[in-house]
Amino acid sequence: MDYQQGDTIVAIATPPGEGGVGIVRLSGPRALSIATALCGGSAAEPLTPRYAHFRRFYTRDGRVIDHGITLYFPAPHSYTGETVVELQGHGSPLALASLLAEAIARGARAARAGEFSERAFLNGRLDLAQAEAVADLIHARSDAQARAAAASLEGAFSQAVDGIHRQLLHLLALAEAGLDFSEEDLGDTHEQAIADGLTQLGRQVARLLRQAEQGARLARGGRVVLAGRPNVGKSSLMNALARRESAIVTAIPGTTRDLLREEILLNGLPVELIDTAGLRQAGDAVEAEGIARARHILHSAQLILLVADASVGWQAEDEVILRDLPEGPRRIIWNKSDLVSAPPPTPAGEVAVALSAQTGAGLDALHQSLIEALGMHGDNGPFSARRRHVEALEDSLDQLNTAKDLHSVGGVPELVAQSLREAAGALARVTGQIDAEDILGEIFSRFCIGK
Ligand code: GDP
Ligand code: ZN
Repeated sequence: MDYQQGDTIVAIATPPGEGGVGIVRLSGPRALSIATALCGGSAAEPLTPRYAHFRRFYTRDGRVIDHGITLYFPAPHSYTGETVVELQGHGSPLALASLLAEAIARGARAARAGEFSERAFLNGRLDLAQAEAVADLIHARSDAQARAAAASLEGAFSQAVDGIHRQLLHLLALAEAGLDFSEEDLGDTHEQAIADGLTQLGRQVARLLRQAEQGARLARGGRVVLAGRPNVGKSSLMNALARRESAIVTAIPGTTRDLLREEILLNGLPVELIDTAGLRQAGDAVEAEGIARARHILHSAQLILLVADASVGWQAEDEVILRDLPEGPRRIIWNKSDLVSAPPPTPAGEVAVALSAQTGAGLDALHQSLIEALGMHGDNGPFSARRRHVEALEDSLDQLNTAKDLHSVGGVPELVAQSLREAAGALARVTGQIDAEDILGEIFSRFCIGK
């Protein structure tokens, strides 16, 4: 695929704000000509591929914006697979904005979010899972997340998928051969080979699915939402947890701690704690809006902690809140247990943890409870993955099981082959190789049946 036909995109590649270095990146067929013009036009020496050139950067009317290093990566040996030029100036927001504006005035288009990686995928520089790993790496909030995303980017996940995909196509070719030949031609071993292959591949996909589930959990992090009446101690509990678990260390603009939200590291994985009552307070001006937001947040929670006051026991108002909670894992938290000798009776069918946000007693039990409910046992996934990948692997496993069932009862070979084809197609969705030619190619190259 030749993406050089498309337009040339430009973006400031470094984060907003002041810094030592600021980079403007261009990609597309006109990247070189636009960058050359920005660097003073034909008067300057031409850019040598992959060499660092010291250059001044100019406006169209000849004013110097900044100076720095220019790097030229000719297609296809660049991040995007297109011609890429990077202008590395100083990390001045104003100079970078001018450079960007000049590039646009000279015919480049402001890149959409992720467009460089999207082009890298379209040009075959990264497969889909790797392109997604770029985003996961950028957004990683913990060491474990960053390591897993880097492994995915290096292709750990894609290679595992591709390896199974290849075996699946081979098995499909075997099954297809059965469609064209009678059993006498192929011999007894043929059916046995298919049966063995189905068992083998089913195990491999199941294992990869488990790893992908871990990877997806890891990439997503956790979200725990606190609900409860005023004054039961939700804010105190959030603070106590933030103090106990190591708080997130990366300083990211716009995520300063506030009353409503804390981020903690649980077994090295980031977990967001949100106080819905706080949301409601924040939405006081438009109460309905605040309640709608709280409801939305509750639905997105992986675990809900319904905090209640152990010193007064279960109240009618607690019951109202409980009945209003969406389906999903939850715990009743008996806070202020320091005020009573034993926690009060818990509503039937509910799991409770008694603790004191004030003294810290019972926080260990809550910690265990969180790890269990969020599935964060510390056996982090070997690579990062997403819901999309998990679903594709689930589909693939379903189809494999169907093929196995059909085959074991001597079912119609066409249907076995069809299920295998679907299983392979589902796997291919992970890396974005969704080409039916694959399967045909595999069949033709391995079986010179000459029919
Ligand atoms: P929220 O409205 O649910 O966020 O409750 P707060 O966290 O603001 O706490 C309400 C009151 O309960 C404050 O006076 C806290 O000091 C007190 N409180 C919170 N947790 C405990 C606890 O574990 N034990 C005791 N004795 N008091 C607590
Ligand atoms: Zn509060």
